[in-house]
Amino acid sequence: MKIEANCQRCARTFLLSQIGPESDAPGRCPFCGARFARHYSTVLVDAVEDAEDSATRFVNTIARLQSMETGFDVDVEGLLKAITEQVRDQERAARAV
Ligand SMILES: [Zn+2]
Repeated sequence: MKIEANCQRCARTFLLSQIGPESDAPGRCPFCGARFARHYSTVLVDAVEDAEDSATRFVNTIARLQSMETGFDVDVEGLLKAITEQVRDQERAARAV
């Protein structure tokens, strides 16, 4: 699953896959050239791939549950709300460092 992000310098939106090893400027904003994850540039590409793969795997896992005749409905809204809260908590914790 493609994940979008916003550059903190120029505020433009781009796909995380646009900063991968095959891009013109790996690890840099495709619009303003800002260098991302300055202290983690060697692991950034792997982390981006992991995040996109995990998002795809997550959707596929839920789809697998939904495709079974389980006799229950997955609470998708509740699940997405909980995920949003946990991701936002992580974001706040990372910015507080
Ligand atoms: Zn930028």
